[in-house]
Amino acid sequence: MTPQIDPRAGAAVKAADRAHVFHSWSAQELIDPLAVAGAEGSYFWDYDGKRYLDLTSGLVYTNIGYQHPKVVAAIQEQAAKLTTFAPAFAIESRSEAARLIAERTPGDLDKIFFTNGGADAVEHAVRMARLHTGRTKVMSAYRSYHGGTQQAVNLTGDPRRWASDSASAGVVRFWAPFLYRSRFYAETEEQECARALEHLETTIRFEGPATIAAIILETVPGTAGIMVPPPGYLAGVREICDRYGIVFVLDEVMAGFGRTGEWFAADLFGVVPDLMTFAKGVNSGYVPLGGVAISGAIADTFGKRPYPGGLTYSGHPLACAAAVATINVMAEEGVVENARNLGASVVEPGLRELAERHPSVGEVRGVGMFWAVELVKNRETREPLVPYNAAGEANAPMAAFAAAAKKAGVWPFVNMNRTHFVPPLNATEAELKEGLAALDTALSAADAHTD
Ligand code: PLP
Repeated sequence: MTPQIDPRAGAAVKAADRAHVFHSWSAQELIDPLAVAGAEGSYFWDYDGKRYLDLTSGLVYTNIGYQHPKVVAAIQEQAAKLTTFAPAFAIESRSEAARLIAERTPGDLDKIFFTNGGADAVEHAVRMARLHTGRTKVMSAYRSYHGGTQQAVNLTGDPRRWASDSASAGVVRFWAPFLYRSRFYAETEEQECARALEHLETTIRFEGPATIAAIILETVPGTAGIMVPPPGYLAGVREICDRYGIVFVLDEVMAGFGRTGEWFAADLFGVVPDLMTFAKGVNSGYVPLGGVAISGAIADTFGKRPYPGGLTYSGHPLACAAAVATINVMAEEGVVENARNLGASVVEPGLRELAERHPSVGEVRGVGMFWAVELVKNRETREPLVPYNAAGEANAPMAAFAAAAKKAGVWPFVNMNRTHFVPPLNATEAELKEGLAALDTALSAADAHTD
């Protein structure tokens, strides 16, 4: 039920926002943020009472939807008991969150370093890898997103890093697998896997293996387009890392905590990294929290020697209480299984059926509740529906798509020529079908822009 709301309050919220809030990744005068009055479960609504089904899960983090009563209550209880306490102390909510996370992370990733979000988790994973190996270079994929802070944005392959590229010394980029856009080199997933592994190893040899501290990869790259790696790729990277003494970092900030239908996407591939970053879904983003799960060998490096790094709010009690409650809700309510089952039985067939009918759909790919729909101008040439546009100029076809989706009652995730279907992991079958129906309408708007 949408509660009673006052549209005039929305106007005041909007006016103050436009006067004083400086928005991320935006040209301040070209944006028109929606004033949101409230949210519950898979929906949010504006001050006019218009409801949207959130196909974005915020920024792909509200994995158990908005305002889950058990998590809200846990935050309230923690606030009443002990709102904050410095990281050097052992605190119940912090140690319990670390225990629950370590219980679920693969292999011997049993020590948890807490951060405030994903980017700082990446910063610390890289620092740990450099100190552990005594080497400096870090390798990352071109099609990737690792966060907006200095080191993390430089590891990011997405053009947003260009703004601060001067600080990218020590970063070496490579091409991870992406069959749909690699077809002149590879025709099958097996060929693409072999191409990507050979390219990675050749790059390492040319850079000098003894100079490379870490390879960082999103287990399933998210923001850059949800490219599920072919079978064997991550195991192959693991082998290469072992061969050259390189630390293997998997970034599970987006893919972790159930998004792919497993607690961690690494479990889909049976691969155990040396370091694994997480954030977002760890507590559905109710209070900022991220972290690094650390292998025994790397933890031992800092057994007698201090780890030189930390954050004032590391393992904040409110954030950790939210994580404990979220993980328990996910386990008790079968949220990971829901993502796996409805992903396979409703989302995948639904998106594939839309792909058959809409000429603007070039490819549908994903797993669990983690899906990308790649929109093209022409299915034969695979020309993206938007020209590559680093200047961020108006993107008419995708704007038409997004406007039609919103009119049909869903909030779509749009990035370049893609829309991502990334609803909360506990979305119901009816909600997912509602999302697919709205997407059907919106894709018709995109079809109008095809050849
Ligand atoms: N790593 C990955 C894979 C992400 O998707 C993101 C954010 O989208 C980040 C890191 C950065 O996380 P945060 O925005 O919490 O700093």
